[in-house]
Amino acid sequence: MTCSRNVPLLMLCLFTSIAIGQAGKNHLAGPTAATPIDVLHYKIDIALDMTSGLLEGRVTMTARMTAAANAIPVNAVMLEIDHVTVDGETWSITTDSSEESVVVLAPGAGRAAGDTVVIAVDYRRLPGFPRPGGRWGYYFFTDSIGVPANLGYTMSEPSDARFWMPCVDAPADKATAELHVTVPAGYVVASNGRFAGATSGAGGLVTWHWTESHPIATYLLAVTVSKFAVSTLPFVRAVQDTVPLQYYVWPPDSAACAAYLPTVDSMMTALSGLFGPYPFDKYGMTGVVPFGYGGMEHQTITTLNRYVETDEKVVVHELAHQWWGDLVTCGTWKDVWLNESFATYAEALWRETQGGRPALRRYMHDELEHFYFGSWQGGPYDPEGQGFNLFDDVVYSKGAWVLHTLRGVIGDSLFFRSLARYRSVYGGRSAVTDDFRSVVDSVTGRSMENFFDEWVYGKGWPVYASTFVWASDTLTVRVTQEQAADWPTFTVPLHVRAASASRDTLFTITPGGRIAVVRVPLSFVPSSVVLDPDSLVLKQIVAPAGIAAEPARPETFSLAQNYPNPFNGTTHISYSLPEDASVDLAVFNVLGSCVARLAGGREYAGEHTVRFDASHLASGVYYLRLRAGAQSDVRRMMLIR
Ligand SMILES: [Zn+2]
Repeated sequence: MTCSRNVPLLMLCLFTSIAIGQAGKNHLAGPTAATPIDVLHYKIDIALDMTSGLLEGRVTMTARMTAAANAIPVNAVMLEIDHVTVDGETWSITTDSSEESVVVLAPGAGRAAGDTVVIAVDYRRLPGFPRPGGRWGYYFFTDSIGVPANLGYTMSEPSDARFWMPCVDAPADKATAELHVTVPAGYVVASNGRFAGATSGAGGLVTWHWTESHPIATYLLAVTVSKFAVSTLPFVRAVQDTVPLQYYVWPPDSAACAAYLPTVDSMMTALSGLFGPYPFDKYGMTGVVPFGYGGMEHQTITTLNRYVETDEKVVVHELAHQWWGDLVTCGTWKDVWLNESFATYAEALWRETQGGRPALRRYMHDELEHFYFGSWQGGPYDPEGQGFNLFDDVVYSKGAWVLHTLRGVIGDSLFFRSLARYRSVYGGRSAVTDDFRSVVDSVTGRSMENFFDEWVYGKGWPVYASTFVWASDTLTVRVTQEQAADWPTFTVPLHVRAASASRDTLFTITPGGRIAVVRVPLSFVPSSVVLDPDSLVLKQIVAPAGIAAEPARPETFSLAQNYPNPFNGTTHISYSLPEDASVDLAVFNVLGSCVARLAGGREYAGEHTVRFDASHLASGVYYLRLRAGAQSDVRRMMLIR
């Protein structure tokens, strides 16, 4: 899905003026009924009244019992249920609103584990809004609001399929599906999978048949109906194997969309080259408005906001979801980054196929770098658990940067081999974050646990400050991590490029912890030294790198008086080391207890300054002690509030 922030302002204004409620703001993952069935197949027979908005019909689930039970919860909200049969026998129902489900109750003994059951539910979804929290599932508009024809469509992600069809509404329970949708003649029904014909019935009604033979999650099922014009371009997947690319849009948009199909064909070629052959039987796009989103990647039949029907970014994003989200589906909504980060990174990969590394780099920085977004401070895994919206930017552009960083760490070959194996192992199924990590582990032959802990489950990003000193054929690189104290430190490898007018060399360092000092042999005096010159890693760099051809080496060991002093909150402390030394710089209160440790470990010869934040300490006298090798010195400081 692409959220509405990707949609031009004009359209958002239109939304406001026609007041479609809270759509686009609420993306709550609802509870999945704890049910003893695994659905194998959905048969959806529904009729849509294109004047009133009534939706009614029957959903038939063929399922396997995963445990013995005489009560079967099925997700359904605000649906009027007339009748339920299990294997042709009438069962009763009760409602469990806390689980957003109805519970189908056996009149007798129920069913045993391993049994196959056929559950048929006759139901109706009454017209009208609102549904609670803007969770409508099925949207219906008439041409009275200014659109070219009456319009009905489903929009279910993450947990709203239950508002238009009884189902087991969990992204991990995928099933095959067939949809038989009856509408008045003149309307066109776009849906999932392969078109299997349309049959005319009584009363000027036509039933459209669609078959999805590939497993599909309920939130990816879609029915979109209006008086659409259809454009088709065959995409050649392999010798004697073509897949139709299609637009279902209103006639005024048809020529522009048909003209855009060759670009979609190019995207399909590019993404197939990156991710493997397109996995489904067709790829269609419908254009609708009002729509509270940019696009939604319904399997084989993306729904696009009419205002971005041919927007490159949205079109390639939803197309990429066919691999990442639809073929391989997030196992739970905590794993939604496995859908969204991948589709967002695919936007950048598409640019890379068109313009090489410079285009990739430009897109990553210009389009996907949002340090100022609040949710960026979190990690891509489980946004709701961190207090963010399920579809917050942390799972889009920050997650894309995390994937880009993973690619930088393991290299192009292992990165794309990891994607290929992830597809081959989990295609047609769902995967959780640790499944993806295990795939990367197995392809790279090493544990990626640290990487995932820091970048996927952890929060923040590295904020590096660096200095470089060259002397005696040695470059000393000092990298500090300046990010917030409650963020982790990162141990990602970084490229460093050192160059002079005539020489250029690239080497890799892996700075870990708050302070890291690395020495590398370098036989020339560099005129520039750049950290991560190819932008392979998500990071911020705060202090400009300083370069000295000759290090200023102090004559003596010294600890200067802090400044300012007395101080209120923060102060600075400088010291000089004539030689590299193991240092310990600590602050003590008048009772001799250590209240802060400001530096520790191996430091190189030179001048050093650290900032001391005493905002958590009481007013009074404190003592600063520096030890370096065998030498030490003490200063008295005064904190006044
Ligand atoms: Zn998306």
